[in-house]
Amino acid sequence: MHRTTPGLRADPAARLADVERQRPEWRAWLELLGVAERELDDAGWRTPISDAEVGGIVAGASTEVPLLHRRTLGVDAGRVQQLVRRLAATAASGNVTGAVSFRGYRPSPDDALRLLAAAVRQDPADIRTLAEAAEIDPGALTSMAHLAAFPLLQSCGRLLEGHTPRSWPHGYCPICAAWPILAERRGLDRTRRLRCGRCGGEWQVQWLCCIYCGEREHEQLGSLVPEERGERLNVETCASCHGYVKSVATLQKIPAFELLLQDLETVELDLVALDRGYGRPEEAGFPLEIQLA
Ligand SMILES: [Zn+2]
Ligand SMILES: [Zn+2]
Repeated sequence: MHRTTPGLRADPAARLADVERQRPEWRAWLELLGVAERELDDAGWRTPISDAEVGGIVAGASTEVPLLHRRTLGVDAGRVQQLVRRLAATAASGNVTGAVSFRGYRPSPDDALRLLAAAVRQDPADIRTLAEAAEIDPGALTSMAHLAAFPLLQSCGRLLEGHTPRSWPHGYCPICAAWPILAERRGLDRTRRLRCGRCGGEWQVQWLCCIYCGEREHEQLGSLVPEERGERLNVETCASCHGYVKSVATLQKIPAFELLLQDLETVELDLVALDRGYGRPEEAGFPLEIQLA
């Protein structure tokens, strides 16, 4: 596990290898992550929204709805199908829970698109329906679907970053409606910024306010600080809604893909939080409506 000082990080490949050494049981999962990461280099995912549409989205931006709400994202169905099949084949050859059932999973372009759309919307019911039809473990398909949506959402995040409302008062992502993967206490002035693990979005929020339920009572808000980690890593908790979010001190904005690494590297913080009865919402913070075409 890395304990580098904030701002000084080993490169992602070295960190990924480190995680694999620490957690050999995650190897198959890390391979899937590698498939999604390599896909980021594919130019085919880069323009789900045209420049003109970005202009329209920016002009219509409000502090009420995430930027992707009611948008149509352009993707190539064949490319989506290929990615889903590649992820399924990787999962089937590894040791991912429920992966045995991925053998022979070869969705049509329509089903692959529907799966991707369900992942972007964070619609567990639709993913479950698709899993049942294909006789796949719903949990495994959910994890895989979210990885399949990663390149598309990363592109959306790149196109829309810098266009989010200056002040976004919600705990969920102003671009894609997901709850943050972690909070950054950034820079010397320690502003509190939430980061989205899907689109890489970032938004600043106030201190002493629960990101899930808005609780502001001092006594209800707490933190779990693991002693051996000093103050760099922490878990923010809320006694009212029993929500938690991991929090990391950093000098600079963490690059989008490294958010996933940081999340994996700090999984023991999740275990501590879960053990004490805290949790994270399973569904999106906002019911995103979205179409893929
Ligand atoms: Zn997002
Ligand atoms: Zn709360």
